[in-house]
Amino acid sequence: MMKINIIHCELANREHSKKKRQYAHTFHYEHNTICVADALWDLPVNHLLAILLHEIGHLHYPPEKYIDDPFADFAEDHEKHETAVDDVVHQLYHVKIWRVNSKRWGKNLEWIDRKDLPKAKQIIWNCGYKIMATTAKDEAHE
Ligand SMILES: [Zn+2]
Ligand SMILES: [Zn+2]
Repeated sequence: MMKINIIHCELANREHSKKKRQYAHTFHYEHNTICVADALWDLPVNHLLAILLHEIGHLHYPPEKYIDDPFADFAEDHEKHETAVDDVVHQLYHVKIWRVNSKRWGKNLEWIDRKDLPKAKQIIWNCGYKIMATTAKDEAHE
């Protein structure tokens, strides 16, 4: 089971302020790190856990382009890749990630069924997640 770090990231905050449904990203720092916007923690738990599972899916399934350049423009392949990442989560963890357009929380947002909440918590727990603060030095790297 991969160990994951969850870090607060000013870039994630900026992305969220530009595009509401953007709460997290991967491959900004080490390959086991998920960067989140502060707003992630305001989400209802079925969205919050679904987003974290989706991001864990990204860590398992990095596209080559991401590895070369985390901020490459790959809009064309983007939607296909996002669906593939949800499928990876389903295959690995047997939790289905659904999508919904939420006026309040953003478009095409991940969510999971109520019955899958305990399983989702267990998966994230098993990843031995650590929530870390970014340092001033890290922020300068952006
Ligand atoms: Zn980041
Ligand atoms: Zn994604």
